[in-house]
Amino acid sequence: MRFIEYGTIKKKAINRFALIYPDFYKAGNSNLGLHYVYNIVNQKENFSIERFFMDFERSIENQDMMKNYKALLFSLNYEYGVINLLRILKRNNISILREKRDNHLVITGGPLNINPFVLNDVFDIAFIGDAEKSLIEFLEVYSGLDNPKKQIDEFGKIKGLYIPEIHKENKIKRRIENLEYHPLYEPIQWGDFEESFNKTFLLEITRGCRSRCSFCLTGNALGPYRERSIEELLSIVKEAEKRTKFEKIALIGSDMPSYLGDVIFELTNLGYQISLPSLKLRDINENTITLLGQDTITLAPESSESIRFQVGKCYKDEEFFEKINLIKKHSKSVKLYYIFGLPGEEYKDLDEIIKFIKQSRKIIRTKSSFNPFIPKPHTPLEDQIFDYPLLKEKMKYLSSNLKDVRIEDLKGAFIQYVISLGGRDVGLYLIDAVENEKNISYSSLSKAMEKGEIEIPSSKKEWKRIEV
Ligand code: SF4
Repeated sequence: MRFIEYGTIKKKAINRFALIYPDFYKAGNSNLGLHYVYNIVNQKENFSIERFFMDFERSIENQDMMKNYKALLFSLNYEYGVINLLRILKRNNISILREKRDNHLVITGGPLNINPFVLNDVFDIAFIGDAEKSLIEFLEVYSGLDNPKKQIDEFGKIKGLYIPEIHKENKIKRRIENLEYHPLYEPIQWGDFEESFNKTFLLEITRGCRSRCSFCLTGNALGPYRERSIEELLSIVKEAEKRTKFEKIALIGSDMPSYLGDVIFELTNLGYQISLPSLKLRDINENTITLLGQDTITLAPESSESIRFQVGKCYKDEEFFEKINLIKKHSKSVKLYYIFGLPGEEYKDLDEIIKFIKQSRKIIRTKSSFNPFIPKPHTPLEDQIFDYPLLKEKMKYLSSNLKDVRIEDLKGAFIQYVISLGGRDVGLYLIDAVENEKNISYSSLSKAMEKGEIEIPSSKKEWKRIEV
């Protein structure tokens, strides 16, 4: 297989860091947060950073081994990343427990640090919240130290950093930045390695969300809504063109601005194909759909109409159908995202969902996918329980009434639930399992819960120490 990337930074520096995405290249290289860190560290004098993925055990840039880097920066976006992080350290003969590690600084960042306490005994430093400025401040301090691992206190004054050895009890405020900086070097694959967004430049148009759906981390905990102007977006693209090569642009953001149509118009005028990973119902109009020219448009009805209103996503079924009829004129299919098991959901709600999908299929080719509801910390639904037997019943009901739908594996979702609402006890359990090559599965974790070895949700709710 040919590996051809444009936008790769190959730099020699005294301070060499590893940037590790604990998943495969396909997922990781399509993560914008990773590109932020890659650009910020590489643009600092005397520093370089090289990428690792689970299918690339040596660095992409220099094919070097992970243990040869001074600091290991992990990007944590999904719960499975926690288990993968532990396995990666073990595989590279790097001590998992912080107290046993002499040489390497292990640093984590990303949205999963909304609850960093599962890995409390592992990392030296966790970046909490937006890191574009705290990372620069960290590098400043780092460059003045002889032995950063032993002089960890020196980082204690940087806002947005959680350092377990220093911050024993106090609260840590999530750092929030305005949208100013944007990475320009995005390594983009032109060879045979797939990415989630192929040959695509990721352009962050907004951050945060103006809605507050009660199940959603973004709306409740990841900071207020911020947006970039059209002028800024165009200038980022023009600068990026000088540094990397792409033929599409994906607009990244959970909530789109009122001028979305103009942005798409300007960017298509530059000759790019534009994609939007997901669109809110109100953003769908004749103009946007025509300009996008996407074969498939993704919508997220989430649940039945009444549950949808209860969780704060206030769209009626008929509004969805108006848009599906519009989409039909310009695109070939719709993808519908659902969450099942939300509080208050009854079988009549599942019947409504089934009816909705069947009705949509009469209008346009419809793919549907279901994820079980996994409570997230810092959301109004954080105290909800992942009721495995009930969810299993509901899953069976859905699959017996609907053909060709994708339903996420419940056992895997249970593992995510444990990590999402866990505390240090979960981390120590996982460390022991990885160290001793024990299985981490639905049954091992539920047995550990029964025996009282781990407590889910953690009654201490240590994540409340993170101020959002
Ligand atoms: S589910 Fe979507 S609309 Fe609702 S808060 Fe989250 S990002 Fe916003």
